[in-house]
Amino acid sequence: MNIVVASGKGGTGKTMVSVNLAWSISQSRETHLIDCDAEEPNVHLFYPGRKTEEPVTVKVPEVSSEKCTLCGACGEFCRYGAISVLTKTVMFQAHLCHSCGGCLLSCPADAITEVPRRIGMVTQSQPSSSLTVISGILDEGEIAAPAVITAAKEAGEWDGVSILDGPPGSACPVIETMEGADVCILVTESTPSGLADLRRAARLAEALGIPAGVVINRSDGEDGPTLAFCAEEGIPVLLTIPFDREIAAIQNRGAILCAEKEEWKEFFFRLYEDALTIATGGIT
Ligand code: SF4
Ligand code: SF4
Repeated sequence: MNIVVASGKGGTGKTMVSVNLAWSISQSRETHLIDCDAEEPNVHLFYPGRKTEEPVTVKVPEVSSEKCTLCGACGEFCRYGAISVLTKTVMFQAHLCHSCGGCLLSCPADAITEVPRRIGMVTQSQPSSSLTVISGILDEGEIAAPAVITAAKEAGEWDGVSILDGPPGSACPVIETMEGADVCILVTESTPSGLADLRRAARLAEALGIPAGVVINRSDGEDGPTLAFCAEEGIPVLLTIPFDREIAAIQNRGAILCAEKEEWKEFFFRLYEDALTIATGGIT
């Protein structure tokens, strides 16, 4: 069961929801928590301590100067401008390469081979016997977040429950995270911009055919427009977390709300149960 926690933008409390959801589930069954926000991972802030690290690599071209005839075919093929044929050499800019392998296929002289190049890493830790935390982390200056997300998902793949903390927005990294999800929990705030972002995230989940539910975070009680949108779209609101100084203080010191407040452990476990029901078509 893959449950993706997503939001249309950053700063809505998506990671807080992911961490608490995973923690509450892990009290009664084994759980994987996978941080797919590869450009700004912060699940690890809740779980400092020892981790294993596995590099993530992609394949990039390497040109043999002995075989290359400077014909120009690879440069013409590359739509990303990553490989350019100059008067006396072929110039390769690794950070522009999308590892499509096209230049290799286009080379008539068999002068190109593929070599691995590191773009990030996947870390793994076991904060408790029933909770495994996996993080995909993109190296600074790299652009291929989806490849790191794929590696993190593969590292955490199993038959049990996985909570995937998605990247914000609605671009390729979010799509990569949502791919194969059973249900999506959309975290939002009841502000005009929060509603606009929720609309986008809900459209994306719908386009990918993933059933969704909503969590309203930092609610000041004025949730009318958000509730109206959810009712209109048939998306159930599963949990409302009020704006509360004590909750904010717990989060600010990197602590887990459910671990400190018994009632929130129950609320988040109910969120899990409702997500399961949505995944099987039970709540509409
Ligand atoms: S692998 Fe693709 S993106 Fe990279 S240099 Fe070759 S053609 Fe360009
Ligand atoms: S296609 Fe092959 S032979 Fe032609 S410039 Fe590129 S590497 Fe050299």
